[in-house]
Amino acid sequence: MVSFVTGAYILAALLFILALAGLSKHETARRGNQFGMAGMGLALVATLLLVLDRVTEYDSTAGWVGVGIILVAGTVGAVIGIRLARGVEMTGMPELIAMMHSFVGLAAVLVGYNTWIETARLGHGGDAVHDAEVFIGVFIGAVTFTGSVVANLKLSAKMKSAPLTLPGRHLLNLAILIGSVVLLVWFANVDGWVALAPLAIMTVLALVLGFHLVAAIGGGDMPVVVSMLNSYSGWAAAAAGFMLGNDLLIITGALVGSSGAILSYIMCRAMNRSFVSVIAGGFGSDGTVSGEARDYGEHREIQAAEVAELLAGASSVVITPGYGMAVAQAQYPVAEMTKRLREKGVDVRFGIHPVAGRLPGHMNVLLAEAKVPYDIVLEMDEINDDLPDTDVVLVIGANDTVNPAALEEPGSPIAGMPVLEVWNARDVIVFKRSMATGYAGVQNPLFFKDNTQMLFGDAKDKVNEIVAALG
Ligand code: NDP
Repeated sequence: MVSFVTGAYILAALLFILALAGLSKHETARRGNQFGMAGMGLALVATLLLVLDRVTEYDSTAGWVGVGIILVAGTVGAVIGIRLARGVEMTGMPELIAMMHSFVGLAAVLVGYNTWIETARLGHGGDAVHDAEVFIGVFIGAVTFTGSVVANLKLSAKMKSAPLTLPGRHLLNLAILIGSVVLLVWFANVDGWVALAPLAIMTVLALVLGFHLVAAIGGGDMPVVVSMLNSYSGWAAAAAGFMLGNDLLIITGALVGSSGAILSYIMCRAMNRSFVSVIAGGFGSDGTVSGEARDYGEHREIQAAEVAELLAGASSVVITPGYGMAVAQAQYPVAEMTKRLREKGVDVRFGIHPVAGRLPGHMNVLLAEAKVPYDIVLEMDEINDDLPDTDVVLVIGANDTVNPAALEEPGSPIAGMPVLEVWNARDVIVFKRSMATGYAGVQNPLFFKDNTQMLFGDAKDKVNEIVAALG
């Protein structure tokens, strides 16, 4: 049985690697997901068989009760998971993912305590490596837990997205880190139940650190935090794998941890942010931002029928979608509009900002869902140079990602972030419902530029009106 399980674990690990490779490209993402699901299914079955094998060998009542608990908990978890996944809107995915990261963190904390209690109960203390595994596992798990809960609250707008800037906040983080190292030394040097004291104090400190690290990060930088917590959740799982002596959990955790770290690095580069600054909870920024209302002048409005005319007469059109397209579920009419314009000989392409929407790759997923051809979906860096030669840009539900304040206003919370420079096109049409700000809470001077016109209303309704007018 053990050799079968080892073989199944190796196969599952390979499937996870194939899943990551598949997820790196539009065309192969769906297959990547299928590999991941197959790997996880295999891992679950193999682990269950391993547990059953051990329980059959010892044939203890407690063992069989344990199997019963695993089956009941697994079934309840699966039912909740299926219900949540079926019911969640695409716009609710980021919060859901943040919540799932928090579960991984909590699981690592519980596994850590359970492993430690078991060791203490059996009187097997004194193994420094095992002590370090438990301590570090609980630390990473606790930071991931509260950090992810705060990310969930910020993403679901239950907590304000502005950074929490406590006086001496970097010192506070540093003090918690140093305090945790001191507690680790204490933990490793005492035996028996006394060791519970440093473990419990560190847990409270790590919970505070997780809360504080994420609360200190401003709205515009949340994408990096989400991918960073993804990485932390991987390391928390790997730590749980060490504590449980489960190789597959170590491999899977390390894969998630390292791919999350690479994604965070890519997101930081895309947003022109320092990686170290973001993981240290906004270290390096003084927290002063100037998102206050300014008078940028008057904006101009346009109607859907006029936009249809403008588009029909254009030879090149670029569409830059954002979070509002996801809210409105406008991707299907956008795909239809694209098809009609291309049939009329208009060159239509999409420009995707790396942090558009609320998830890395959010817009790509929506456009792929609506069957927009991959070859006309370009990244920000690929399209920016072409914008001065573009006739019309349609900004559909995007705001922060097309905000010139990022380049022009040094005090802005999004200052320094590269954006889609849509204002360089001949005409810009902005689809949104009001003059409200985007996620980072910053006013957008684009809306007041001479070549910009606002098309107010729900993006899906407005695009449908344009499609009808195009005939
Ligand atoms: P924004 O969130 O900046 O703006 C979205 C705009 O869509 C709003 O101004 C809103 O205006 C409009 N909108 C909302 N609903 C509708 C609707 N039904 N019809 C038409 N318009 C609508 O979007 P961006 O995509 O440009 O920027 C993403 C932001 O989210 C960035 O700040 C990014 O840092 C952040 N973020 C990104 C994450 C990621 O991983 N991609 C994760 C977390 C945060 P109005 O209300 O007037 O309609």
